[in-house]
This record gives sequence, structure tokens and C-alpha cells, in this order.
Amino acid sequence: DQSSATASHGGAIGMHGIKKWFGNFQAVNDVSLEIRSNEFFTLLGPSGCGKTTLLRMIAGFELPSEGSIRLDGAEIAHLMPNQRPVNTVFQNYALFPHLTVAENIGFGLKMLGKPKAEIEAVVAEMLKLVHLEARGNNLVTQLSGGQQQRVALARALAPRPKVLLLDEPLSALDLKLRKSMQIELKRLQAETGITFVFVTHDQEEALTMSDRIAVMSQGEVRQVGAPWEIYDRPAERFVADFIGETNFIDVDVVSVGTDRALVRLPSGAEIPATFPAGTQPSGKVTIVIRPEHASATASAATAPLSGTIHDIVYLGTDTHLHVRLADGSSFMIRLQNARSGPCGYSVGEEIGIEISDDVAQILRD
Ligand code: ATP
Repeated sequence: DQSSATASHGGAIGMHGIKKWFGNFQAVNDVSLEIRSNEFFTLLGPSGCGKTTLLRMIAGFELPSEGSIRLDGAEIAHLMPNQRPVNTVFQNYALFPHLTVAENIGFGLKMLGKPKAEIEAVVAEMLKLVHLEARGNNLVTQLSGGQQQRVALARALAPRPKVLLLDEPLSALDLKLRKSMQIELKRLQAETGITFVFVTHDQEEALTMSDRIAVMSQGEVRQVGAPWEIYDRPAERFVADFIGETNFIDVDVVSVGTDRALVRLPSGAEIPATFPAGTQPSGKVTIVIRPEHASATASAATAPLSGTIHDIVYLGTDTHLHVRLADGSSFMIRLQNARSGPCGYSVGEEIGIEISDDVAQILRD
């Protein structure tokens, strides 16, 4: 039980061959994941992809139809939720409105029969951790949404779980508050050393907070990696498309080395491209180039790509140039607005497109 979980480290979770059916519907299809001790790990994917179901199986609210879940090497898939050193923070906070902030935070410890002095010490520590020292005696209903979220976090952290599960905990907050809570959550994870497993459908949130991200689609994990790997080295079209904006170009593989291939663009220019581990690209493949990894040049004749600007979108920090290539496809360039004033390009203008070194990634078939 949680009373014995005086974790000085976060738990490591190993999921193997997890399948989950609801009647005839398969919500999770053969998921295997290793979540490391003391990691901020995010399950990211569109609505209905199975991330909450996966989280609920770690918590013990659902049983897997098949597969094993280990915590620090020991099987937990059959244990009741309260037998696992795991706690959950829900989207709607689920605080007790008739209790004070301190009583809410100490509630779990009281249920475990902890001595009063110990509860008071932990509550004081938790209030400090979430920067609510002065609010312990307030009713939670007297707090703002962001403060209530911090109480919910403190309550979940108070029994010192080895793993904290967070199911879209920031989605009820407005954008500014959400941004500051993202930084706050990352700090809490680092300070407590507890393993965080965070569920979101917001790709920017996932990139901001995570040590590693698992991108899910239709009950399957499509790719696991550090934020930069998910963004710069997407293994397949779904991942590239779901995370950020991107250009897809069909190319021919010219030659393949150990970790780079040479590919030929439709213009005939050849550029190096990385490819997913374990694949052997050949023939016709698709590469991904992010819009900020390309730039415009006046010398259209010698650039690896060229075309005509058909749209210019001004976004304050950036300007997007949408360029129609010779084959009719569209290519987007993201210009950083380093100076104030207009971007200097106009619709109808013909430009060349330069591609930065080592930015193209070949997708798996
Ligand atoms: P969201 O971001 O919308 O919460 P999600 O990725 O967390 O999506 P899940 O809640 O895990 O998705 O649901 C995955 C699929 O399983 C969905 O199609 C959902 O309708 C279905 N599902 C989840 N729970 C049940 C249940 N108890 N009975 C039947 N179907 C369910």
C-alpha cells in the first residue's frame, strides 16, 4: 500500500503486449513500453487513440485483456488501485469543496491512518512545494482554477507515490495559466523525483514538458523518443503530420550509408537524409522537411527546389511563405521575423528554396 511507499526514486514501468477490448472494440492493440525511473513521460495522440485507457490500466481502474504491467520489475496488473504506489491527477481536480486546502491535501494520508503530526508535516511540505503556503486554511472554492489544480497535485503527491499519472490535468485552464503550469509541473517532477506519466492530445504541451514521448494512434504506439526525435526524426507520416507543420516530398533513393541516405529531389538535386533505425530505404520514398529548415533565395535556377509564392501568412513571430513547386505540390517556408516591417516577398514571385544541412528525414513505408 502507499504508506510503505517511501519512494526516494520514481518507479520504472514496463508494459508488455498490452491489449484491451471493450466488447468487440479493441482500444489498445499490443502496446509495449518501458517508462524509466524518474522520467517525465508523455502519452500523446488524438482523441480516442487509447491513451487514457493505457493510463487507467497503470492506475488499476481497468484490467488489461492481455499483457503484463511491471513496476520496478514486479507484476502489478492484478493489483487493486489502492495496492499500487501510484496516484492519479484528473482533469476536473475532484477536490472536496467542503474541506480546506490543507484538509484536501492531507485527506489520503488521513485515510491511511497516519498520525496527526505526520500529516501536518507532509501537508506543510506540500503547500510549500506548490507555492500555496498562505492558503492552507482557505476552502478550495475560494481558490482560482490554477490554484485548485495545484491543490490537486499536492494531494496526489502527499502519499509519495512512485508514479504520478496525469490525465490532461491542464486542459481546463486558459492558455497563459496552462503555460505557467507546464513549467510548474516540470519543476515538481524534477524536485520530487517521482515518475510522471502525462496524457495529452496537445503536441506543443508534450514537446515542452517531456523527457520522452510515446505517440499513439488507434490503440498503437507509433513512435517513442525524446521531443527532438519525435519532431526532427518522425518515423512515419502520422507522427510527422500530428506533430507540428511539415512538408512531404516524394524522392528517389540514390544510395544508402550506415545512418544517412542520398536522395534525389524532383529537380534532380541530391541531398542527404536520415532514416528510421531498422529500416533500409530504397526506390521511391517520402521525405519530411520542416518549414523552418528551409529558406528562400533569389537564385531559383541553382536552388534544390524552386517555385512561385502563392500565399504569405504573417504570424507576428514568423511569416509563412507557401510556394507552389513545379509538380503542383505546395511547400511551406517559415521565416523568422528577425526585423520589424514587411517580409519583403510578394505573391506571384518566383523563388528558390534552400534546405538546411542534415534536416531531411525519410519516412518508413
Ligand atoms: P481522449 O483524449 O478523448 O480521452 P483517449 O486517447 O484517451 O481519448 P480512450 O479514452 O483511451 O482514448 O479511449 C479509446 C477508445 O476506447 C475510444 O474509442 C473509446 O470510445 C473506447 N472506450 C474507452 N473506454 C471504454 C469503455 N469503458 N467502454 C467502451 N469503450 C470504451
